Amino acid sequence: MSFKVTHEQELARKIALEFAEREIIPHRDKLRVEDEEFEEQLAVKEAKAGFHLAMIPRDEGGTGLGQGGRVIILEELGAAFPRMVSSLHREFAYAFAKATGGVVKEKWMPRILKGEASAAPFINEPQGGSDVMNFATTARKDGDDWIINGRKCFISDGHKVDFGMILVKTGDPKDPATRGARSLTAFVVEKDMPGFKVERVEKSMVGHITATVSFSDVRVPGNYIVPPGVGRGLTPVFMAVWDVGRLGISAMLLGCILGSCRCSIKFAKERVLFGKPIHDLQAIRHRIADMYIDLAAARSLTYRAAWLRDQGLSSSQEQSIAKYYCTQAAIRTSLHAINIHGGSGVMDEYMPQMYYRYAPCLISAGGTDEVMKDTIGVAAINGANPVMGANPAETSGFHIM
Ligand SMILES: Cc1cc2nc3c(=O)[nH]c(=O)nc-3n(C[C@H](O)[C@H](O)[C@H](O)COP(=O)(O)OP(=O)(O)OC[C@H]3O[C@@H](n4cnc5c(N)ncnc54)[C@H](O)[C@@H]3O)c2cc1C
Repeated sequence: MSFKVTHEQELARKIALEFAEREIIPHRDKLRVEDEEFEEQLAVKEAKAGFHLAMIPRDEGGTGLGQGGRVIILEELGAAFPRMVSSLHREFAYAFAKATGGVVKEKWMPRILKGEASAAPFINEPQGGSDVMNFATTARKDGDDWIINGRKCFISDGHKVDFGMILVKTGDPKDPATRGARSLTAFVVEKDMPGFKVERVEKSMVGHITATVSFSDVRVPGNYIVPPGVGRGLTPVFMAVWDVGRLGISAMLLGCILGSCRCSIKFAKERVLFGKPIHDLQAIRHRIADMYIDLAAARSLTYRAAWLRDQGLSSSQEQSIAKYYCTQAAIRTSLHAINIHGGSGVMDEYMPQMYYRYAPCLISAGGTDEVMKDTIGVAAINGANPVMGANPAETSGFHIM
């Protein structure tokens, strides 16, 4: 068995940590008040640092650190301040352009490599994100083009991204050959395409911004269909949402856990009660032990899911386990951090309340807790063995996000 963090990946942690100490930690007050100008500048700096290049192989212009290097970077940036790291949108752009290939890849890849292009999945719909088969957005063929009509909601930075991978219905419900999963097709849609409109922008409790976007007779060229093609949209959407979204979100939650541990240990050393630092109190040490155990478990699950992908193996089940565990562990550890900090734990200028508010924001993003558990349960019943990284049944029905 070999499951080891490489020298390059450790170097990536050092670079991300130095970046965080220079560009994020001293400016936390600006992020806390959601200073948009500062966030824009930070996004540009993250692009220049090339964090989004980690998951791109060297022969394609990336830094070739793999999913392993990527989750370590997201973990460190997330620990510095819990927020949607801008490189996730660049990674989505890469995944979508690569999956689509052809003219889309030619058009976008140079900008993606320079960190100048961003994308998001356009999947979720108002009538229920987990129930993909009930989606109402459609595409109909018109000559060589397709015409898209519908609405997607809760799209992360949907008002800003350059393009997205959209999942739409193309099948005829009366035709058995194009019903069910065969009714869904994935396209790339660009924000400049006539008929694309940002309907509304929503803000979450920690400033994570999502948008509702609509498509009114949006004309998309036939070569913007994501392979394998018409009626085969689920697979590429699954791959991107799992590899970029679910794994990336696990890593950002891991950042919350790491950040909660770091600030609690620092506080427990500095805060003196009864003439001694509070880490001298066994109850405080036990809280820190509980947090540390969660950190160790969440890291092992996330790194392993990443490592399996770097070996070219499926890790859909491991990614679901990691996402579920990291969500719960981030909520637990940030609550421990609030307790350890006493009254300071809920004050704006201290970090525990920030981690505690951020973790629940990611419960639904990339798939809800119930959907994660359902996916894991189906894989377990089908005989998948998580320790061996076996390739389980890929889905538990059609709910994917
Ligand atoms: C911060 C954030 C960012 C997001 N970014 C994006 C994005 O960029 N692109 C995008 O397309 N979407 C995005 N989403 C949407 C996200 O994918 C959906 O919120 C998610 O899929 C759940 O859909 P829903 O909110 O409609 O909840 P619903 O699907 O309506 O779920 C309601 C409840 O039913 C439960 N449920 C659903 N299915 C089952 C089941 N089979 N068994 C048991 N219980 C079940 C759910 O767990 C939940 O408790 C984002 C969401 C958030 C919060």
